[in-house]
Amino acid sequence: MNLTTSVIAKYVDGIKLSSKGEIMVTNCVIDSRKAVSNSLFIPFKGERVNGYDYIKNAVENGSSCIFIEDERYFDPELPCEFILVKDNVTALQQLASNYRNGLNLKVIGVTGSNGKTTTKDLVATVTSVQGKTLKTQGNLNNHLGLPLTLLNCDESHEFAVLEMGMSQLGEIDVLSKIAKPDIGIITNIGESHLENLKTKENIAKAKGEIFNHLKPDGLGILNGDDPYLTNLINTLPKIITYGLRENNQLYATNIHRIGNSTVFQVKGLGIDETIHLPLLGEHNVYNCLAAIAVGLNFGIHIKDIKESLLDLQLTGMRTEILSLNEITLINDCYNASETSTKAALKVLGDLGKGKIKIAFLGDMLELGDYTEQAHFNVGKEAALIGVEKIITVGQYGKYIKSGALNAGFKGEFLSFSNSQQGREYIKDIIIPGATVLVKGSRGIKMEQIVERIKEEF
Ligand code: ATP
Ligand code: MG
Repeated sequence: MNLTTSVIAKYVDGIKLSSKGEIMVTNCVIDSRKAVSNSLFIPFKGERVNGYDYIKNAVENGSSCIFIEDERYFDPELPCEFILVKDNVTALQQLASNYRNGLNLKVIGVTGSNGKTTTKDLVATVTSVQGKTLKTQGNLNNHLGLPLTLLNCDESHEFAVLEMGMSQLGEIDVLSKIAKPDIGIITNIGESHLENLKTKENIAKAKGEIFNHLKPDGLGILNGDDPYLTNLINTLPKIITYGLRENNQLYATNIHRIGNSTVFQVKGLGIDETIHLPLLGEHNVYNCLAAIAVGLNFGIHIKDIKESLLDLQLTGMRTEILSLNEITLINDCYNASETSTKAALKVLGDLGKGKIKIAFLGDMLELGDYTEQAHFNVGKEAALIGVEKIITVGQYGKYIKSGALNAGFKGEFLSFSNSQQGREYIKDIIIPGATVLVKGSRGIKMEQIVERIKEEF
């Protein structure tokens, strides 16, 4: 960004406490270690650290402006401007929102239960064909990450692709209000956050908030195969539906795997083209369709979209295929829900056809009353795709086991209480030549298992 401290104070309804002249601020950080010359530093009081203890450090690193919520923190000796605001979170959000209003930027918001990060990466790959694109780094998709991402945009950016995450009603509304998307994408409605939201209808309602602040001529891009999204279709003036069913405006057929790529035919909206996607799984075909829809909307030729997808830059640990010396590893340990675990198991079934298939399945968290059923269903799916060994990590393995047995599982079943314990037995469990999936919720830290597998094989 490129804003003077006076403009910033106006944007956030703040009061400048010192007058060191018109200082230009060029970026915004909430971690003093990341401050550079002319940073705005916004301190937050976290559970473990208090950002206010690091104001001096931020200034030493180059910060020229600090937001404070209490005059006590004003230090006239420091060579920077202080802006007094009511609340730092609100101020960050107001700043990003007003800043966004002044930019000639096309914003694409991505929400949904599964596939946000992957879709965001795919969309950014496609829009980069037409103009400089900024995207959410990693998974910084919340009330702080989204405004910070927007503040990293400048006049040279034509597109911003923003991931929007939530765990409660009202949270996507806040993000949408800041971002004012030109396009809102909802990937699907799954089971994540059932603990808070109780029903899938509520989850759909929460995700639908992405359209609350859509630009007046804005576009909704929706997974038309998801029954929980059909209600939304009629509420929006401009819409593209996508999916595998032919009644979608954009749809994929003839999906098959070639090596580590998925090949499919995309049809509808006047096109018929074969796409080579360097990702595995039907779920990624969905993610890719959303990105193709964005590209077509901006008038990008399907041939250019197709070419851009060949050098996709992905965020790690999401259905990552690693060919190790002795085994093939599917590293999908970033997070897990029932839908995403079933999607990953399908990839295991396909990639491991004719080989020994081993699934390390960590607990899926935050599912509330649905926990037992979700794990049962996952166990069933593992049995149905023909997994030979199931290794569960955490406390819900018993439900996975009963689901697998219910579907006729005859293979080997092992259970560990945590991934630290699981990693000790890797060498005994994995058979050379096998195809191995590792998947589990973030809190289970399944990457510890991945690390050990990489060391051993
Ligand atoms: P989070 O809520 O943790 O930010 P996310 O929505 O950003 O997750 P990704 O990180 O893109 O999702 O993908 C996480 C995992 O979900 C993938 O590794 C894959 O197993 C699964 N997944 C990705 N896309 C889909 C999809 N469209 N449908 C079902 N599962 C998916
Ligand atoms: Mg994500």
